[in-house]
Amino acid sequence: MTTPHVILLDPIPADAEATKASISASLRFVSADEPILTAFDAGAGRGDGIFETLGVSDGRARGIDAHLARLEASAEKLDLPAPNLAQWRGGVEALLAALPPKGQASVRLVITRGTDEAGPPTCWLTGTPVSSDFPERTDGIRVVTLSRGYANDVGENAPWLLVGAKTLSYAINMAALREAKSRGADDVVFTSTDGFALEGPTSSLILRQGNTILTPAIQHGILAGTTQSDLFEFLQDDGFECVYRTIEVGELLRSDAAWLVSSVRLAAPITAVDGEAVPTDLELTARMNAALLA
Ligand code: PLP
Repeated sequence: MTTPHVILLDPIPADAEATKASISASLRFVSADEPILTAFDAGAGRGDGIFETLGVSDGRARGIDAHLARLEASAEKLDLPAPNLAQWRGGVEALLAALPPKGQASVRLVITRGTDEAGPPTCWLTGTPVSSDFPERTDGIRVVTLSRGYANDVGENAPWLLVGAKTLSYAINMAALREAKSRGADDVVFTSTDGFALEGPTSSLILRQGNTILTPAIQHGILAGTTQSDLFEFLQDDGFECVYRTIEVGELLRSDAAWLVSSVRLAAPITAVDGEAVPTDLELTARMNAALLA
């Protein structure tokens, strides 16, 4: 495993033309152990910022357009300056060129509110080689259902809770994962207080019921998953009917298969829910992961 790479990005306004030369001049590789934040950065002090994590296979990042679009949408939800997408794409490309040409990696894009409300935001990217060995993709994961403490309509009725934005405030998500571990499980399916299944702390939920593939509708206060979206495309082409709707918690036990899916781990089949074994579809899991890696 080689060392991670870090690029500091001096933001170009979204409405300014970003040329190859101006993008290149705005990116600066720094050593992975070089401090890049002051103690007063809102990202460090308040988790006030946004991020994206992209999966990389053999030098190619998956879903760059979808991740950049979500970065832009998250920035809008937090009233952060709009990112210049050509510049961020240039940053991703610079990292990909620095990463090993073979194997898997993750690329992370981060924007914080910086040290001053008036800006500029603090922006950086990291590229980190990761092990190609993800046993969860074949062995599966045991999940527990944990309440997120919100009703299903939180996205529409309380947008300031930012549930559909990919913010840096992941302390709750990490706490939920620790709770799962303490209950002898591997991961979490968050539930709404009115009885619906939502998403994992770092992943989207997909179910198969016969020939129908289901995922919770995103207006219900969950993150729009890029991996879920790619898989819907693949599964639709494969002959499945793909549907966004509310999913009752009980459906986790009644489905023919369920997965938590995300950009780096990809599709991990759920093998147990709250200690009760549930069916898996390992053949379809293998085809889904092969399609994502292709
Ligand atoms: N939902 C949450 C809360 C997440 O943090 C993530 C990814 O980190 C996802 C869903 C899956 O998104 P993606 O497939 O784009 O990685």
